[in-house]
Amino acid sequence: MQNDDVVVIGAGPGGYVAAIRCAQLGMKTACVDAWVSPGGKPALGGTCLNVGCIPSKALLDSSHHFEHINHHAADHGIAVTGATMDVGKMVARKNKIVATLTQGIAGLFRKNGIDWLQGRARLLGEMRVEIEPTAKQPAQKTVVAARHIIIATGSVPATIPPARVDQTHIVDSTGALDFQQVPGRLGVIGAGVIGLELGSVWRRLGSEVVIFEALPDFLPGADHQIAREALKVFGKQGLDIRLNAKVKTASVAGDAVTVEVGVDSANERETFDRLIVAVGRRPNTAGIGAQEAGIELDERGFVVVDADCRTRVDGVYAVGDAVRGPMLAHKASEEGIAVAELIAGQKPHVALDRIPWVIYTWPEIAWIGATEQALKAAGREYRAGSFPFMASGRARAMGETDGFVKVLGDARTDAILGVHAFGPNTSELIAEAVLAMEFDGSTEDIARTVHAHPTLAEALHEAALGVDGRTLHI
Ligand code: FAD
Ligand code: NAD
Repeated sequence: MQNDDVVVIGAGPGGYVAAIRCAQLGMKTACVDAWVSPGGKPALGGTCLNVGCIPSKALLDSSHHFEHINHHAADHGIAVTGATMDVGKMVARKNKIVATLTQGIAGLFRKNGIDWLQGRARLLGEMRVEIEPTAKQPAQKTVVAARHIIIATGSVPATIPPARVDQTHIVDSTGALDFQQVPGRLGVIGAGVIGLELGSVWRRLGSEVVIFEALPDFLPGADHQIAREALKVFGKQGLDIRLNAKVKTASVAGDAVTVEVGVDSANERETFDRLIVAVGRRPNTAGIGAQEAGIELDERGFVVVDADCRTRVDGVYAVGDAVRGPMLAHKASEEGIAVAELIAGQKPHVALDRIPWVIYTWPEIAWIGATEQALKAAGREYRAGSFPFMASGRARAMGETDGFVKVLGDARTDAILGVHAFGPNTSELIAEAVLAMEFDGSTEDIARTVHAHPTLAEALHEAALGVDGRTLHI
């Protein structure tokens, strides 16, 4: 029986990063993964690289170029007529990016001496893991033993009874990355991160997109002022976002999907060419042998862990989407690194309240820390400063003037409590706020930091100045 210092189960951004860090720290490391690409080959990278972050951003970038050429190039004096989109080529480009990156991880595994075990793992207890091969050869199950086990089995799309996913007419996020032509009418259930990102992709390419959201509020987890502004801008772009709209049935007849939706107290029927179900994700922990191994799962299937990702069983840890906290790739990776370092005797820490969020619509939504409504609800005294991109020289030069940045600081200590941004490239801009918060910075620290001119980051600078009423350009 193979014996390792560490066996990692799952090679998404939680698991593969944990495996690399364990190997860097001198541990004999194996990583088991069950992912098989549509071509039938095992692939590393998990949801993020195969059907998540990377492919969705590839399509967002392609569709952004298309929209820019069709609708904004003329503003710059560039005349383009008859631009067309070859969807097959766009999807093939996306697939190539995915293949390059997943093969890159296989290269990193080789470089770091990590043993890639291809198959589905099940915990047997007593620090043993059974592996059922995903490839046809070898056919037998094998068992490996380890001194430490890291569960990083990730998550899968959540489903709802009214809309059964067939991956042809009714698809989940994976199917929505592979449409071979632009749907004429596209329905989306869920105005969350996936609904907005993938809805944006297909709208830019010409779909008429309707998004049904069960809740009365749009993006309730984001700062309300940002969410309100974003809803307005997305509406102008043509995303038809219907709140308080709960899908009751979805049925396929011929090549069409008919959806019955309860909007407020009335029922509406709509017909689409395709329907995306994007109602959240659930932890992928069924069948991993948690019970046999004495690992506790909560009522929703998340592995129960402490602040350092330890499970109830000594030597067994869990990270990423399979445990509490935001279901984000960078959160999964940071936990993977921290667990590896914990095993090596170090004292790492992941601050779950300092994880940035980005929604890759255009403009992008990005934030870190507390929202204004949460501070109000907690009775916390704070000061706010904000700055619109309309008044930014760089944003004007780019022709990207929608949105604003808001900085929230503690009224007494001036500590940064939250930064919220809606605007061009805010996915990059937010990194400065994350760093400032990581260093326990104050809004005055950002205000005193020299920002290159002209940059979009000056909007963050101005918003920080605004906390103390010193904004210069409005
Ligand atoms: P996963 O990436 O889900 O990986 C888990 C791996 O474990 C998989 O390879 C799976 O096959 C394997 N596995 C499961 N069970 C077993 C088993 N029993 N034996 C062996 N292997 C097993 N997050 C962001 O931060 N930014 C984004 O832009 C972003 N975009 C996204 C877009 C989409 C369309 C989707 C669906 C998700 C997106 N996410 C994004 C979320 C992100 O993909 C996840 O948070 C991240 O992948 C979680 O990493 P993980 O390592 O915990 O799990
Ligand atoms: P989500 O939780 O962001 O949004 C799901 C939405 O569906 C919610 O607004 C919910 O109220 C709504 N909903 C649920 N049931 C419904 C129903 N029956 N009818 C209508 N609406 C309903 O989930 P998601 O968009 O599926 O994404 C899953 C997770 O993947 C995200 O939470 C995030 O963690 C991760 N992700 C991150 C990124 C990113 O970081 N940019 C991108 C994509 C996915």
